[in-house]
Amino acid sequence: MGYAVGLDIGGSWIRAALGDKEGKILRKSVRRVASGSEDQFISQVIEMVREVCRGDPGEVEGVGVGAAGRLDIRRGSIEFSPHTTLSRIPLKETIEAEFRRPAVVLNDCVAAVMAERMVGAGRGVENLVYIGIGTGIGAGIIVDGRVILGKDGNAHEVGHMIVDLDGRIACSCGGIGHWEAYTSGSGIPKYARYLSGGFAGAGGLIERIRSCGEKVLAKEVFSAAYDGDPFARFVIEEAAEINSKALANVVNLYDPQTVTIGGGLTLKNPSLTVDPIIRKMPPLCFNVPPSVSVTPLGEEAPLLGALLSAFGSVRSRLIPQL
Ligand SMILES: [Zn+2]
Repeated sequence: MGYAVGLDIGGSWIRAALGDKEGKILRKSVRRVASGSEDQFISQVIEMVREVCRGDPGEVEGVGVGAAGRLDIRRGSIEFSPHTTLSRIPLKETIEAEFRRPAVVLNDCVAAVMAERMVGAGRGVENLVYIGIGTGIGAGIIVDGRVILGKDGNAHEVGHMIVDLDGRIACSCGGIGHWEAYTSGSGIPKYARYLSGGFAGAGGLIERIRSCGEKVLAKEVFSAAYDGDPFARFVIEEAAEINSKALANVVNLYDPQTVTIGGGLTLKNPSLTVDPIIRKMPPLCFNVPPSVSVTPLGEEAPLLGALLSAFGSVRSRLIPQL
């Protein structure tokens, strides 16, 4: 039984993989999240596990899941996901009943930091942070060699840290002033609209925002910034300020040696997201600043981590408290 199954469940996509303890993937499946009920969602997950196992899940050591949203890690359920309408999904219980193999459910960025530690830029590093900036913002944090979890497994929810004390923008979770509401893929359009109020000038992106508001997508803001649009560059610069301050908070809390950054928005635009953080963050830190880089594992970091977390020996090493 040298193999296991990993699942990366995001807001829009589910990825499943069969692979080994070195993170080598043998078979993979990627599907859009089926819209509908909790039952349909669970059926899709079960089907994808079967697909990568070619119908014989009895031969795998276990199933590891990395999922966005607020979890109950001991029940192995997704309690609330701000990017879908689904809630209270008992994944661990359902997968274990279906396949009679152990299952573990972790936050997707927690899975990613485990992959970073085992097969990525964090090999040999005992204090490590992975930040995912995509539709939302999440983190996985290893302190003194152990993944931190908290009472329900949500100790790393840095995206919902309040970075704007005046609370000018509402987050997808319902809170106000949260980091994710300003600089994630879903936040950038809201932040751009907010900033457009105080920006003189016409034409280009600001005109689009004045006519379409938040319907402008983050990728349009980045694309305009690459073309030299002055308002787009201003939004990206302000977003970089917030990212740097928020990440300095994370550094001051957890004292990492290495920080890697992934997530769709970052991986597509490293020069406008990670490079400014590398320049702006160090002077904002109280603690000695860590090295900061784009994850070498790309968009597969959460999937690889989910796969690795399915192996008991990896779990007992990195999350012995689970
Ligand atoms: Zn929030």
